[in-house]
Amino acid sequence: MPAKSAKPNRAAMRQIPSVDALLARPGIESLAAKSGRTLVTAVTRKVLAEVRRELTQKSNERSSTEPIDPAALENEIHAAVERALTPLLRAVINATGVILHTNLGRAPLAEFATRHILATAGHYTNLEYDVASGKRGKRDVHTARLLAEIAGAQVIVSRGELIEIGDGFRIPDILAESGAVLREVGTTNRTRISDYARAINKNTRLLLRVHPSNFRITGFTARPTLEELMALGKKHRIAVCEDLGSGNLTDLSASGVDEPLARASFKAGAGIITFSGDKLLGGPQAGIIAGKKDLIERVRRNPLFRALRVDKLTIAALEATLRVYQRGTFDEIPTLRMIRPPAAEIERRARAFVAQMGASLPSDAVAEIIKGNSVIGGGSTPDQSLPTFVIAITSRRHSAAEIESRLRQQKSGTPVIARVERNRLIIDLRTVHADEESELLAAISAAISL
Ligand SMILES: *Cc1c(COP(=O)(O)O)cnc(C)c1O
Repeated sequence: MPAKSAKPNRAAMRQIPSVDALLARPGIESLAAKSGRTLVTAVTRKVLAEVRRELTQKSNERSSTEPIDPAALENEIHAAVERALTPLLRAVINATGVILHTNLGRAPLAEFATRHILATAGHYTNLEYDVASGKRGKRDVHTARLLAEIAGAQVIVSRGELIEIGDGFRIPDILAESGAVLREVGTTNRTRISDYARAINKNTRLLLRVHPSNFRITGFTARPTLEELMALGKKHRIAVCEDLGSGNLTDLSASGVDEPLARASFKAGAGIITFSGDKLLGGPQAGIIAGKKDLIERVRRNPLFRALRVDKLTIAALEATLRVYQRGTFDEIPTLRMIRPPAAEIERRARAFVAQMGASLPSDAVAEIIKGNSVIGGGSTPDQSLPTFVIAITSRRHSAAEIESRLRQQKSGTPVIARVERNRLIIDLRTVHADEESELLAAISAAISL
């Protein structure tokens, strides 16, 4: 290796072509015609600045004895333009076994929903137009009737995804923002209907019940039934609102998932229920407000309803998702399709996957199939997990953390997100779509063979 000089190499500096000279090269000309002159010029300047920096740096990353090759610079410019134009939001393969992974965008949409977005998004639509009467319509009617049919609500409206509650979602803070006064009743573990009754006064407007989505209180506990709350509300003419969180529209108890059904809340007579579009429901991110017609009308008249209205992409996706529920073909909904298979079915997939890996597995790597747990995630069903079988990969050449990092940061191909447990790479196929398996296989083979 030649000794690295600390001095800027003037001869090498002089060889650096000018921006104009590079832009005049036919390969860069055609790149500019395709990707935009402004972007290509800016990228060219950046690449040249980087070459200059490397030549003047003490460590001399770029050997100053090597001639500057304009063709190599051209390749660097092509690569940098491609990087600059790659969308930052991209698909990833979720091999973690967390079905509603909030960091990975919660529910992936049903294909029927993505096709409906494609079919409508590039066109004018009847979003707020009644084709039959030729008059102005309402954007939420497309989903309202369907949800009424599926969940048993009278009317629904959708609250926009603009509300950024995410990690800072705190009921007391949200109520404070709304100007409402929050009266807490009962104790942490036990609340009786008489606690509610005692707290009611002439200013009381709403009895709010919030589903403890991501925690459970067990042991010495009590909570009035929704029916008891309804009776109390009725007596004092006060509306009852239930924040359900997950928006469960199908009975998943056969899969061991115990989440309240939206239908049950309506049956009990709740005036308003709220839930997410992209948790168990498996649709787009949206806050759904469903309930009794008169209460929904009041929600609709609030100026916030207009400010937070949902866009047509969300409505297209939500309507198509609800159509799947209407048909009862639940396996079309990715979240439900992932929850329903018993462990034995995931084990079969894992065995077939490992058998396929066989040939490409280097001799210093081992892939085993072991029992594990998938979780639903997304701030729901905290103490419930689904039994599964995972593929545990170990390599004598690379640590599991190294393999995990390579899978995430592949140069080409879809990033793969996996877990590491006790220095083993863990792949849970429950959350991997069948048509992602071959890409996953290739990515793992590459990551462990390098
Ligand atoms: C998740 C959840 C919310 C918030 O829903 P987002 O879809 O995150 O806006 C509110 N209440 C409950 C009970 C929840 O579980």
